[in-house]
Amino acid sequence: MVADRPAESRVRLIAGRLVMSRETAADPRRGRTALVDWYCRAGRTWTAGRLQPWAARMAVAQPVLDVCDLGSRWGSYHPGDGGREGGRMSLGWPLFQLPMHLVDYVVAHELAHVRAPGHRGDFWRLLGQALPEYEERKAELDELGRRVWMGEITR
Ligand SMILES: [Zn+2]
Repeated sequence: MVADRPAESRVRLIAGRLVMSRETAADPRRGRTALVDWYCRAGRTWTAGRLQPWAARMAVAQPVLDVCDLGSRWGSYHPGDGGREGGRMSLGWPLFQLPMHLVDYVVAHELAHVRAPGHRGDFWRLLGQALPEYEERKAELDELGRRVWMGEITR
């Protein structure tokens, strides 16, 4: 049995393309795990610097961020979670296959939940103040989101 490579070297971004190591690619489950792991780590890094400016713009407490597998959801927000005032925001890793302005839409959407639980008028007002073009972004996310890999592998 081959010793496991460190997670960072199973999938790498080389000249703008993701490249998977041969030994990881030989096993679809390992390949899936390595890709999901890459997107989770990249997603945390890419989002870390964007969360604070959005939270400041929306005048909400900054949540703890995680990027993980949320099934078919793009994001979620839990107020009591994370051990701080801002709660916990989770983003689904497949989101990071999409353009960053759509990641921003999901970040702003989940941040609006810090002040407004549910999707009533106060929620859409808050989101609309921070991101006036939110309806276009939502429509684009619905459209492009149907075409990205959600982690399925055939049996
Ligand atoms: Zn929501």
